[in-house]
Amino acid sequence: MHIAELTSKEFSALIKQRPLALLPIGTLEAHGMHASLATDTLIPVEIGRRVEQAERTRFLLLPEIPYGHSWDLAVFDGTVDIPAAPFISYVSAVGSGLVKAGLSRQIWLNGHGGNNGALTLAAEAVAEAGGQVVIVNWWMDFRQEIDAITPGAGHAGADETAAVMAINAAWVHLADTPEHAPARTAKVTYKEVSGRAGRFPGAVNGAPREATAEKGEALLTMCARRVRELSVEFFPA
Ligand SMILES: [Zn+2]
Repeated sequence: MHIAELTSKEFSALIKQRPLALLPIGTLEAHGMHASLATDTLIPVEIGRRVEQAERTRFLLLPEIPYGHSWDLAVFDGTVDIPAAPFISYVSAVGSGLVKAGLSRQIWLNGHGGNNGALTLAAEAVAEAGGQVVIVNWWMDFRQEIDAITPGAGHAGADETAAVMAINAAWVHLADTPEHAPARTAKVTYKEVSGRAGRFPGAVNGAPREATAEKGEALLTMCARRVRELSVEFFPA
């Protein structure tokens, strides 16, 4: 079910069936100059919608959290960066509130890498409050499957761009991305304030020009299938 469909009375009845809560979490952030600022929210919301549509009584899709922690790309127009401490506190409160409401079994569908550290800490707080939380970082956790559809991970790269094109092609402008977007050579963490714009030239790395709506459709279908498989693994009964 989608939470918007339910009254309080209907919610009380549904909760007895112990539905799995789907909580999409994103951010508002520059995705190159070519893709929607809401990319990291649109994708987990769409994955959640597909999961819920596939098994309507097993999953309860909740309203998304659209603001996240976006320190690395805060220098680009359109990015809104929520500092880590209030973000962790807010997400912990949302998750713990859901536990109190009867939704202890939660799947957090995260769309944004900058949220990862904060969400790990928030999930630990929700676990202390009696919750069971699975965090799905689709672009990392399903990397093998993604590479079979479109290789080349990267911020605003082919995978994210393709997924947004499948959701709404009008929200992507491939002409506004460089012909050869730079790719990182290694996954290291590096923090320094003044050079932030230079580390993500044009707010992109990866190869967004390889994106197509067809690839995006395949990605979203695969992600929804994998989330359902994980849900059986973690919550078998
Ligand atoms: Zn993104």
